[in-house]
Amino acid sequence: MTDGGGPRPLLSVERLGKSFHGRRVLDDISFDVRAGEVIGLIGRSGSGKSTLLRCLNMLERPDVGRIRLDGEEIGFQGGQRRAVPARVLARQRAAMGMVFQHFNLWPHRTVLQNVMEGPVAVLGVPHAEAASRAMVILERIGLAAKAGSYPVTLSGGQQQRVSIARAVAMQPRLILFDEPTSALDPELVAEVLAVMTDLARSGTTMLVVTHEMRFAFEVCHRILYLDQGRVADGGTPAALLARPAGSPVRGFLGAAV
Ligand code: ADP
Ligand code: MG
Repeated sequence: MTDGGGPRPLLSVERLGKSFHGRRVLDDISFDVRAGEVIGLIGRSGSGKSTLLRCLNMLERPDVGRIRLDGEEIGFQGGQRRAVPARVLARQRAAMGMVFQHFNLWPHRTVLQNVMEGPVAVLGVPHAEAASRAMVILERIGLAAKAGSYPVTLSGGQQQRVSIARAVAMQPRLILFDEPTSALDPELVAEVLAVMTDLARSGTTMLVVTHEMRFAFEVCHRILYLDQGRVADGGTPAALLARPAGSPVRGFLGAAV
């Protein structure tokens, strides 16, 4: 394998571009993520953060560019950009967990059933094994006592923690988070960030779109600042904080950090 000798990135995004109705929403986006890294994606509303995450697992089809996970191109094959077969895409997608702003738990299934569903239905994990693995994850996020409860009986913060558990249960290579705390009442944000911080510290590879600047600057290893569909700046939290007062990223951050 020719990877230049250095450790190959887990995720590699090369010159990604996407337009909607002739308007460029993602423009020449390139970055790498190494295994265990936690990357924050920040930027103004409309800067393309959600579209970027959605392109990574082909919920949106990028117009140009290449995404590779563990060296395997996602979504396309061959020089002609032919779409991969559906079963290949399903396998590739299962390698990337996704946690959305609006947690869509199955309302008619218990918390435990919600967490077991993917491993049983998609990965073919035997029922008993999926149940015991799900319980381990529920213990970890502090919701083992709610295993038999239905989502409607949980707070928004608890429901979002279950949706994180659901993503973790699939044992993905990385987890994409799209503003996971934005729909929550302020008093419920901390418990979700605590679960995400625990995952980050235990080596989970994560890409996190967030407006929680404290989380971004305290937990993320690197931060990418998106502006009008481009990566306008990026670096470690310390590097971004050291940018001069007139720089674009400082302008965005304002008094937030
Ligand atoms: P962010 O998540 O940073 O707020 P988005 O990725 O949601 O930004 O959106 C970036 C731009 O793309 C916005 O101008 C948005 O209106 C537009 N956009 C996003 N999705 C679609 C779509 N499916 N069709 C048309 N325009 C879209
Ligand atoms: Mg968004």
